[in-house]
Amino acid sequence: MIEPFRERFGSAEGLRVFRAPGRTNLIGEHTDYNMGFVLPVALDLATYVAAAPSRDGKLRIYSEHRAEAMEWDIDAVAALTPQHHWSDYPLGVAHELIAAGFALHPANLMIRSTVPEGSGLSSSAALEVSSALAFLNGRTLEPLELAKLCQRAERNFVGMPCGIMDQYISVFGREHSAVEIDCRSLGHRLVSLPAEITFVAVNTMVKHALAGSAYKDRVQECAAAVKGVQTQFPEAQSLRDVTPEQFEQVAPTLHELIARRGRHVVTETARVGRFVDASSRGDLSGMGALMVQSHRSLQHDYEVSCAELDFLVDAALKLEGVFGSRMTGGGFGGCTVTMLRPDAVAAFSRDIAQAYQQQFAVIPAIYPCKPSDGAAEVKNFETIPAAQ
Ligand code: ADP
Ligand code: MG
Repeated sequence: MIEPFRERFGSAEGLRVFRAPGRTNLIGEHTDYNMGFVLPVALDLATYVAAAPSRDGKLRIYSEHRAEAMEWDIDAVAALTPQHHWSDYPLGVAHELIAAGFALHPANLMIRSTVPEGSGLSSSAALEVSSALAFLNGRTLEPLELAKLCQRAERNFVGMPCGIMDQYISVFGREHSAVEIDCRSLGHRLVSLPAEITFVAVNTMVKHALAGSAYKDRVQECAAAVKGVQTQFPEAQSLRDVTPEQFEQVAPTLHELIARRGRHVVTETARVGRFVDASSRGDLSGMGALMVQSHRSLQHDYEVSCAELDFLVDAALKLEGVFGSRMTGGGFGGCTVTMLRPDAVAAFSRDIAQAYQQQFAVIPAIYPCKPSDGAAEVKNFETIPAAQ
């Protein structure tokens, strides 16, 4: 990144590079903003932000993906408002850093990423966390504070009422491990996955326009479900606080749609624990079955799937060596995640791509899900990938 950086900004003096990964969530979807459990892995797909001081009082941010450069006077940044533009993500982070008492210094930033945008692999959190480290430029912020600050950036400035999962896993990801996050206590434990299996993500290559507005609707529907639950369980603060059995006692009193939304969240949170237990027993078919149950619940009760995702899941389940498959991320497009035998990956990738192409006339991108470390400064520049 040094040469293109120097060409663009004139100097690369004082250049440092920061990396933050994307993720796939193995199970526990739409549970994070309900204070439940999730089980993501950080990927070796990541966003890299190269940063060096600028000498003219400006903040400049260039995205290679967008081939677009933005520029502001550093003193004007605090008063900027959201523009519904990609720069809202780093600017939202800058705002939260200022609010947390960090001075923002004039700098040039260059963004390179191997995380596909808008594909449910969390390019947004990867951009937020890598930008935060670049703005901080070596100043320290506790890891949990870093994740929470980036979540606030997305909620307050971008306007997306997201949970903590994406920013949390981008900070706390660990090589060889999935990370079970308790989205209420904000603690986590590392989960080592059975050696006989691996995961791949398959990209539908679509993002339906519904994604943003439907997400906000679901957040509100969950709040309505909590209100209903409180009529019988007044101590419940969120859907996390009721078991599936308790929820079924209340369900007949709820509006039918609200009952289905709540049922997804309550059963999904329970599935995370069951998946981790099955994993520790090496119960591969149990793990796979839970992934499929998760998908059906997202498809029918939560209604955040789409024809392309359903097709990929159904097609995957017919292929050799596959234990389970489900949509991953917010839904309405983006990726599925499939659990399968490592020796089946090559044939699976070929066959699922062919089936998808026949159905939708689009070639799906396929990514191995290799659990990787969370965000950090890049010390060895040779590990930075080439421009995409
Ligand atoms: P996801 O997080 O699943 O990839 P989101 O809709 O949450 O999907 O975030 C995608 C948005 O993040 C993009 O539309 C863009 O605004 C921003 N973004 C992510 N990566 C980059 C990048 N490398 N350059 C510019 N903008 C990016
Ligand atoms: Mg996102």
